Amino acid sequence: TYIVTENCIACKYMDCVEVCPVDCFYEGENTLVIHPDECIDCGVCEPECPAEAIRSDTEPDSERWVEFNRKYAEMW
Ligand code: SF4
Repeated sequence: TYIVTENCIACKYMDCVEVCPVDCFYEGENTLVIHPDECIDCGVCEPECPAEAIRSDTEPDSERWVEFNRKYAEMW
């Protein structure tokens, strides 16, 4: 899955949301989040984010961000 991380805080760009083919972005408290079970790992959102807040969970230190994304995505 791809994950939204701290650079997204208070960012109001929506470029990522517009390109996601499965509409798996949701609004969190002060970030967007990606639903980890809905993301199909296509990667198209990553280069679209002007804040460089999106990355793959295959990178180190991702587990807490996966849980963060899941927590807010599942509120919808
Ligand atoms: Fe959506 Fe693809 Fe980004 Fe996952 S990797 S959030 S499916 S655009």
